Amino acid sequence: MALSGLDIYKLLPKTNCKDCGFSTCLAFAMALAQKKTSLEKCPHITASARQALESASQPPIKLVTIGLGSQKLEIGNESVMYRHEQKFHHPAAIGFLVEDTLPDSDIDTALADIKKLDFERVGQRIAANIVCVRNTSGDRDRFAAAVKRIAVGAGLCLALEGSDHSVMAEAVKLVKDRRPLVICGAGGDLSEFIAIVKGSNLPLAVTCQTLEDAVQMTESAKKAGVEEIVINLNEKEMSKKIQGITYARRAALKKNFRALGYPVLTFTSMTEPLLELAEAVSYVLKYAGIVIMKNRTKEVVFPLLTVRQDIYQDPQKPVQVESRIYEIGKVTKDSPVAVTTNFSITYFTVAGEVEASKVPTYIICCDAEGMSVLTAWAAEKFTAETIAAMLKKSGIESIVSHKKVIIPGYVSVLSGKLEEVSGWKVLVGPREASGIPNYLRNLK
Ligand code: SF4
Repeated sequence: MALSGLDIYKLLPKTNCKDCGFSTCLAFAMALAQKKTSLEKCPHITASARQALESASQPPIKLVTIGLGSQKLEIGNESVMYRHEQKFHHPAAIGFLVEDTLPDSDIDTALADIKKLDFERVGQRIAANIVCVRNTSGDRDRFAAAVKRIAVGAGLCLALEGSDHSVMAEAVKLVKDRRPLVICGAGGDLSEFIAIVKGSNLPLAVTCQTLEDAVQMTESAKKAGVEEIVINLNEKEMSKKIQGITYARRAALKKNFRALGYPVLTFTSMTEPLLELAEAVSYVLKYAGIVIMKNRTKEVVFPLLTVRQDIYQDPQKPVQVESRIYEIGKVTKDSPVAVTTNFSITYFTVAGEVEASKVPTYIICCDAEGMSVLTAWAAEKFTAETIAAMLKKSGIESIVSHKKVIIPGYVSVLSGKLEEVSGWKVLVGPREASGIPNYLRNLK
């Protein structure tokens, strides 16, 4: 079980020397329990206390790195069961299965499809992360050729899956510089796979039917010196798999049970596209570190990437756009000026509707700490005074030839005061963004 601040305090020197940067040993202990500092900051700790405290200073779920450079993917290192407790740190990787039995032309088609799964939403890039090459053929040369082809064409992280260690060893050699995840498939000889990854210090995924198997396998791998491990839970039934992943997460976080303190990899089993989407979404929501799918159509993958983006958004920091003037279309000095908040979803919704209106417009995003219009108004972050200040600060007065500003319909109550404090004529826009095109087209 994770140590509490008081448990940690009992093991500290209790001299309050402040060398760690905290005013007391108790303050340091509390910070360490919350993982806000590291044990190394106290230079006076005894060796026995250090050993006892090691578990308190390590993340309960190991951080695993796959790939390098711009393709680097980090999974794990999570610290809470529920997003509202803090935030989820490393988004689940989403990838696609490519079997080596496919003809080369089909592999190329798959890679071309996967490359298209790269989108922008609310100002952020959301994309697939990994391609998993499976040795279904059992043939060494065919697998090596497929891995090579995919490594060249994918531009994403790689995972290699197979049960025959000699076939896998050859393929891993070809792409070890890309730091692939090596998946010891069902029935694979774990000790041989450990030898494969240890030579190149690669991450290893162990395939297991039950969590009991997972414990044995991760402990064996750890004992043999493998640090970065992923658990591939090979349970066919979706509900049981979710149960297993949840149990592993709970055991790692609540009981500090190290043998299950690794990210979990899942393959989807459904074949019907929408059912596979529902399955993959469930895994993303329920703690999977990597989800490997078969379907790679935009209709299925985009909603999944959207769910992942939302779940891994820090709930305490709404996604924001920069507080400034945005030009939509070919604006002139006569173009309308509209104000809104800097909540990303609000801005992009408004911008999309303005674009649809085909009326070039200036949108001024006021800094409302990323809140939506009504929330910001209720929190007094989007007031007549803040809007007036933003109109002034943005310099819009020297850009347009008029002094008319459109405010969202939901905050029409601000119009009188805003006219008074800004000197601008206030026009009340529609309450819903969907009314913007009609409103702008009919604006006199
Ligand atoms: Fe206590 Fe160690 Fe910090 Fe000194 S450096 S105050 S002994 S925790």
